[in-house]
This record gives sequence, C-alpha cells and structure tokens, in this order.
Amino acid sequence: MIDYHIHLENGPLTLDWLSKFWEQAQKRGISEIAITEHCHKFEQFYPAFEYLAEGENGYDYMRDWLSSDFQASLDDYLELLELGKQKGIPVKKGIEVDYLEQSEEVLHNILDSYAFDYILGSVHVIDKWGFDYFPEAWEGKDVDEAYQKYYETMYKAANSGLFDVMAHLDVIKVFGHKPTTNMDSYIDKVLKAMAVNKLTLEVSTAGLRKPVGEMYPTKSILQRAAALQIPITIASDAHYPEDVGADWEKATMLARRCGYREYCVFMRRESYAEKIPK
Ligand SMILES: [Zn+2]
Ligand SMILES: [Zn+2]
Repeated sequence: MIDYHIHLENGPLTLDWLSKFWEQAQKRGISEIAITEHCHKFEQFYPAFEYLAEGENGYDYMRDWLSSDFQASLDDYLELLELGKQKGIPVKKGIEVDYLEQSEEVLHNILDSYAFDYILGSVHVIDKWGFDYFPEAWEGKDVDEAYQKYYETMYKAANSGLFDVMAHLDVIKVFGHKPTTNMDSYIDKVLKAMAVNKLTLEVSTAGLRKPVGEMYPTKSILQRAAALQIPITIASDAHYPEDVGADWEKATMLARRCGYREYCVFMRRESYAEKIPK
C-alpha cells in the first residue's frame, strides 16, 4: 500500500523527522510514501500568492498567513527527499500546489524548473477566500454559492495542465456545510475534465479526521469517477507521523465497492498501476 499525501510542515526539514513518517508507514503496512509539502511553505512560491494580500476584497487572516509562511527553500526540501531515498526510504518527491487562477503561468514556470515525481493539485482558495482555514471563515457565506464556485475553480484547475493528481476533490465539505441544491452537474464537469486531461483522483482518509467525518471524495463521486475510468491514489494527508497510513483499509474498501481494482504510483510524473490488496 501507498500513502501519497504527507506533510512535513510541523517539524524541521531533517532526515530524523522524515524517518518518523517512514517508521509509522511501516507499522501500518505501507511500502511507499510520497511527501507532498504545501507549496506555500517555500519562498519560491510567494510571487504566485502575493495577489491574495492585495486590493480591497482580501481577507485579514489571509494577509497574516501570507506574511508568515513561505520560509523554506524548495531546493533544501528536494535535497532532503533525495537523501531519504539514498538512506533507503521509499519516498517519492511530491508537492501539493494550490490552484490559483491568476497565477497559472507563475506556477507553471516554478514547477517546470524542478524534478518532481508527481504534482498534487488542490483548491483551498476561492477568489481570495481561504475556505478551509477555520470554521469562522464561513461567516456570512452562502453555502450553495461557495460549493458552486469551488467546483468551478476545480474545473479550471483540472484544465490547467499543472497537475498529475487532484487532491481531496470535495474538501469544500470539510466543516460539514451541505448545499441545498444538487451539485452533480458541477461535479460531473470536473470529473469529465479530469478524464480528458488524464488526471488521477486521490482517495483521502483526511476527511474522517475533520468535522465532516467523511472520506474525500464521497462514494457517489468515486462511483462516477470509476465509470469515467479515472485512476486513483490512496492518501492520508498526514500532517504528523502518527497519521501516516491512517484508515487506508477504509479507503481501499470504498474504492473496491466503487469498482476499482488498481491504484497508481508515480515516478518522474509517469504513473504505473498496482493491484489493490484484498
Ligand atoms: Zn490540501
Ligand atoms: Zn495536504
């Protein structure tokens, strides 16, 4: 089994910290991990996010966040993962990149300059609104409109050519908000764009540890993805060593129920199918 979505951000970029994630992976029967640090940990990505702090329609909590993140160097990060490999850790070099409509070109330029095994795309920001930062960020928001805009942004992300895998496809539900209207047509557009662009979908157990208490994506979405033959990865989105490989059996059980028999691994941005264990 794999865990293809892991963050080192709550510790230093050291071999010792990386090893703690691998130790936990082994305890859970995981044979390969991918570290996918948030791009906004790295100074190189600041130019892509800068606009979120500008203008009248911004958010103070976003400005505070922008002024405190972006401290690490992408070069140091990739060097650490290379060192981990040399020390025998089966680790893939990933990165989780926010889709930012205004910064597509900047993101392309940075990502093209580094050698990743795979690039995980996600939407955490709608226009300038970071919707999953904390529940209070939703005060005064129209839930249906938020969902609609979220999936419209996801659709653009799926067509951007930036990513290999789309992370937590329905993370808009993170705090348990439910839309009052049916979102299927919006979700279908996203899935069809993913199929056309040969993108992989992440099955993530992170939502089980969030207020919503559900897998990402929900079963009905995964069933439609299976019908479109969209491949999958399995992931925990661990931010601490103890969460590596969390609930992976639930993820593969859901995948099997939706018709999946394989998951994907990546190397130098090429994917390879592996059998889901029974
Ligand atoms: Zn994410
Ligand atoms: Zn993540």
